[in-house]
Amino acid sequence: MANPEPTMTSLVVEPKSETQAQTTYFRCISGCPGKHSIYDVIYTCPICGSLLEVHHEREPLQDKTAEQWKQLFDSRVGTTAWPYGSGVWSLREWVIPSLADENVVSMCEGNTNLFWAERLGKQLGVPDLWIKLCGNSHTGSFKDLGMTVLVSVVKQMMAQGSPVKAVACASTGDTSAALAAYAAYAGIPAIIFLPAGKVSTAQLIQPVANGALVLALDTDFDGCMKIVKEVTQDNSIYLANSMNSLRIEGQKTVGIEIVRQFNWQVPDWIIIPVGNLGNISALYKGFKLMMDLGLISKMPRLVAAQAAQANPFYEAFKNNFKEKVSITAQDTLASAIRIGDPVSYAKATKAIAESDGIVEQATEAELAAAAAEADLTGMFTCPHTGVALAVLKKLVARGLIQKSDRTVVISTAHGLKFTDFKVRYHDSNLAGISSKHANPAIQLPADVGAVKAEIEKQLAGKQ
Ligand SMILES: *Cc1c(COP(=O)(O)O)cnc(C)c1O
Ligand SMILES: [Zn+2]
Repeated sequence: MANPEPTMTSLVVEPKSETQAQTTYFRCISGCPGKHSIYDVIYTCPICGSLLEVHHEREPLQDKTAEQWKQLFDSRVGTTAWPYGSGVWSLREWVIPSLADENVVSMCEGNTNLFWAERLGKQLGVPDLWIKLCGNSHTGSFKDLGMTVLVSVVKQMMAQGSPVKAVACASTGDTSAALAAYAAYAGIPAIIFLPAGKVSTAQLIQPVANGALVLALDTDFDGCMKIVKEVTQDNSIYLANSMNSLRIEGQKTVGIEIVRQFNWQVPDWIIIPVGNLGNISALYKGFKLMMDLGLISKMPRLVAAQAAQANPFYEAFKNNFKEKVSITAQDTLASAIRIGDPVSYAKATKAIAESDGIVEQATEAELAAAAAEADLTGMFTCPHTGVALAVLKKLVARGLIQKSDRTVVISTAHGLKFTDFKVRYHDSNLAGISSKHANPAIQLPADVGAVKAEIEKQLAGKQ
C-alpha cells in the first residue's frame, strides 16, 4: 500500500477547540502509538501502513448518561436548527465535535425511512422484516452520509490554510456522485475516477452535472483506485475514498439511526450488501459506540452480503479469515460492489467477529429474482439490495434467521439509479437469467374493445 510520507505535523494535534480535537483524533487500527489530527492530510498509519480510524475518547462522552444522549438525539429529529436537521449532524458530538457550524457541508442527509416490509416479510417467513431505505437521500445512496463529514472537514482544513485545493475519489458510481454533489455545494473542485463503461448512466451523469472533472479510465474499480492513490500523494489533492476514515464517521450514524427509530431497541439481524467493506465497518462502529456508552446492551448480528461474481470477503470468511483474499472481480449487475480487493478488510473482519456475524453470497440469478419479488410488494430495489434480500432468503432457508427475529435489510441505493437493470429484467434481456416476474408493458391500439378484451384476459390470468 502506498503511504503518504510521515510528517512531523501529522503527529501534532492542532485543534480548533483544544479540548475537543484532543479527544477525537485519527489512530492506527493496528495499535501503533500516535494521535493524528483529523485536519491533517493523512490516510494510513505512518508506522505500519494500516488504516486509521477516528477515535473518540469515551470519557468526555460520558458526561451525559445514556438516557440524556437518547433524549438529546430524539429532540433533534426533523429540526431546522442548523446543522441538527441532518441525520448525521444530529449526532454531532459523536461524529466530529470540533467542526465549526460554518464549515458543516450538509444537505440534510440521513433520517431515511425505516419501514415494515409487511408483505415481503410474510412471503419470506420473517414477518418482522424492515427495510432501511438509505437510497432516499440527496444523491440516491448512503454515500451521502460519509461525504457530508469528509467534505466538511476539508472545508475546515481549507479555512485554516491547509494546502488542499481539490478532492478526488475512485468510484463504482455512488461515491463519485456523493463527492461531486457535496464538493459542488461547498465550492470545492472535485476529480472523479470511474471505470469506463462500468457505472450506470444515472451514476455517470451526476458528477458530470455537478461540474466535477470526470475521468473515465479503461480499467476496473481497483485499477482506478491505484491511480487515485498515486495522484493524491501530492497533499494538494485530498483522497475521498473510504480508506479515508472520515467517511466511516458519517456512515456509522446509520446503525444509531436504526436503533433510534426502533425507540432504542436493537434488531436481531442487519443485512448489508458489501464491496469495499467500509459500510459494514461503519455500521459496527456505531453499534460499538452505543454499547460503550450504555445506550444499548446487545449487538445485532451483522450479515455481509456479497455478489458471487465479486466475493473476496465471502472467500475469506470461508477460510475463517485466516488470510485476506483478493480477486479480480467479475462483471455483476450489482456494479457498485464489484470490488476484488476491499480496502476496509481488517475493520470488517472485526465487525463480523464481534457481532457473531456471517458472510454470504448471491448469484446474478438470485439477486435479480430477489429484487423482482421485492418490487412486486411495492419496493423499487437496486441490485445491491437484491443481493441482501437473496442472502436473507438463504439464511431463512438454513434456519439461521428465525420467524420471530427482527431483521433489517439495508437498502444502499435508490432503484432509480439502476433503471437499466430493471428494464433489461422486464424485457427478459439479462444474459443467463430467466425473468420469472417479467411484466412488460403491453402495446395495444387505442381501441376500447381491444383494451377491454386485454384487461379481461390479463385479470383472468392472475386468478
Ligand atoms: C458503495 C456501495 C455499497 C458497498 O459499500 P462498501 O462500503 O463499499 O462495502 C453497496 N451498495 C451500494 C449501492 C453502494 O453504492
Ligand atoms: Zn500502525
